[in-house]
Amino acid sequence: MRWIHLKNKPLTPIFSEFFIPMNLSYWEYKTWLANVDYTVVGSGIVGLNCALALRKKHPHAKILVLEKGILPQGASTKNAGFACYGSISEILSDLKDHTEEEVFELVKMRWEGIGLLREMLGDKALEYEQHGGHEIFAKSNTEKYERCLQKHHEVNRLLQPIFGQNAFEQQKNSFDFGNIKDHYLVNRLEGQIDTGKMMNALLQKAILEGITVLNSVSLMKFEALSEGVELQTDQFDFKTNKLFIATNGFAPLILEEDIVPARAQVLITKPMQHLHIKGTFHMDEGFYYFRNIDNRLLLGGGRNMDLEGERTSEFGLTDKIQDKLEFLLREVILPGKNFEIERRWSGIMGVGSQKRPILKHLNDHVFCGIRLGGMGIAIGSFVGKSLAGLPERQD
Ligand SMILES: Cc1cc2nc3c(=O)[nH]c(=O)nc-3n(C[C@H](O)[C@H](O)[C@H](O)COP(=O)(O)OP(=O)(O)OC[C@H]3O[C@@H](n4cnc5c(N)ncnc54)[C@H](O)[C@@H]3O)c2cc1C
Repeated sequence: MRWIHLKNKPLTPIFSEFFIPMNLSYWEYKTWLANVDYTVVGSGIVGLNCALALRKKHPHAKILVLEKGILPQGASTKNAGFACYGSISEILSDLKDHTEEEVFELVKMRWEGIGLLREMLGDKALEYEQHGGHEIFAKSNTEKYERCLQKHHEVNRLLQPIFGQNAFEQQKNSFDFGNIKDHYLVNRLEGQIDTGKMMNALLQKAILEGITVLNSVSLMKFEALSEGVELQTDQFDFKTNKLFIATNGFAPLILEEDIVPARAQVLITKPMQHLHIKGTFHMDEGFYYFRNIDNRLLLGGGRNMDLEGERTSEFGLTDKIQDKLEFLLREVILPGKNFEIERRWSGIMGVGSQKRPILKHLNDHVFCGIRLGGMGIAIGSFVGKSLAGLPERQD
């Protein structure tokens, strides 16, 4: 058996220096790793949806999901839980470097993706609520606000065939935000979910469907053979008939595609009495976002303050960004209110020069579904399903 040297790979320091290959028993190998039909790498929203779609097509196949974390460890368990279609300023910004058709297709993919997710897991399991997505503008940001206000009718016209109605409208600042224009631009159809519940429901479903999920196993390298693929992990080697890579922001560690990691930092307050804010909120073209959850305020963003520093697949927090998030809580979102911060974390997204996800076959047996940017809740189920369908499209 060949083992690659693990130095400089994204493992714990102990593993990266001293690697002890696992001696699998006959039973372990035969039961879990022999004759694997489909291996999915990554148990985020894309990987699990891919595995579930494969199960639907191949009821008797042996399907394995490999996950490097003890829990899913990328963006799918770290995000803000917005079931969103893009704020007005984000859509206008997208229209600068994408064609109208591309923007239309992206929003459509989000709309259909959220529909797919809701249909598959149900609103109760997702704790889906629809309180609208509000884009708020700083008082000093008159130019952008006026432009968005003026253009929102055009965006409504462009997206009318998707939503079947004019989704965006102007609403009064009824949440008492500080230093914010008197009106927001709201997409009435935007919703929010409980991210943890969504991922737990997906995992439970995968297990019920006879899909094996192996945690704490990291794919290090793969080699396509004439029949199938040989995989080297940090625990063992094995072969699979087809390989599906759904590692999103970590993909640059094993693939050469137009994708780079983008870390995003988040904080959440302790529960607050009479929290009056309800819904999802976007600021600065989506670089800041916040919402209510369990009487708390969850706030994320600030990556634009240090785009270079946040281009990393290492989890972590920085004072610069956390201070800015706290400043926004204090001065803009909850002015004059007492709050305490309970928890802070980061997640890793995958972004690139284009917003469209990369869905492609890399060779006869290897496929990838990556680069979901900040919209994986919306398009993750769709991308996972499409990833599972790539082998057929190739035939
Ligand atoms: C802070 C934050 C807030 C966000 N908010 C929203 C939001 O409100 N709405 C929205 O739509 N989107 C949001 N997103 C984006 C969304 O979460 C992602 O687009 C989506 O989760 C991507 O899903 P995925 O399955 O492609 O990737 P991931 O969830 O990152 O899954 C990839 C998995 O692959 C595993 N993996 C990586 N490398 C290996 C390897 N070599 N071997 C084995 N396993 C491996 C990782 O551990 C990970 O679990 C947010 C993201 C972040 C970070």
